[in-house]
Amino acid sequence: MKLGFEESQRPYTSPSQSARAWTERWVRDWVYCPNCGCPTISPFPNNSPVADFFCAVCKEEYELKSQKSVFDNKVMDGSYRTKCERLAASNNPNLFLLNYDLKQLTVANFLVVPKNFFVKEIIQERKPLAPTARRAGWIGSNILLNEVPESGKIFIVRGGQPEPKDSVLAKWQRTLFLREQEQEARGWLIEVMKCVEAIGRPEFNLDDVYAFEGRLGRLYPGNRNVRPKIRQQLQFLRDRGFLDFVSRGYHRLRGWKER
Ligand SMILES: [Zn+2]
Repeated sequence: MKLGFEESQRPYTSPSQSARAWTERWVRDWVYCPNCGCPTISPFPNNSPVADFFCAVCKEEYELKSQKSVFDNKVMDGSYRTKCERLAASNNPNLFLLNYDLKQLTVANFLVVPKNFFVKEIIQERKPLAPTARRAGWIGSNILLNEVPESGKIFIVRGGQPEPKDSVLAKWQRTLFLREQEQEARGWLIEVMKCVEAIGRPEFNLDDVYAFEGRLGRLYPGNRNVRPKIRQQLQFLRDRGFLDFVSRGYHRLRGWKER
């Protein structure tokens, strides 16, 4: 994987237009499909409302967001209504986030957020555009990256270094089980995954997770049985290979070494 951009053939009028052309070209030339490992992915025709890239082999779809600063907690995205509709229909694309170095004309960080992590909790509604704006009243969305667990941010390039492909593919496979879940069940699993990651060490016991009881109770005020719900999620995560059972009450987070 080469990280530098190719000089574009056509002159562009603005730096952001050039960057868009460079980053799209780079993805087309160098990025493999993190779902099936196919060596290249293809662009959709320009201005496709669906997504930017797709894999011709496994049909996964990808949306590309690129910017020169490192992505922080919020990523501006398209229409809020469209996002919610696609969420409900489970046909939202996976999200590629590319952060480039404009001086070196090279990729600094490139990660993918698998679509299985898209639940309504991570889509935020923005304020409608002002009456004076060209698209007055239009409502955009933010993706709240800080609400995505670490296991849902899979780096393909980190700090100017490509990550090993087999490790990227393994990380992708590890959370695919979320796709079988309905929105609400998925929301619970993702919250418990975040709690488990927040413990900060690979092995933990039940009490470590119960420490988040208050937080989970606030997130799901209708649920009065937070502890049994936590145990149920842990068991599910164990059955799907996200966690390993060590001994009574003790679990281990898989893939910890790769973090
Ligand atoms: Zn594929």
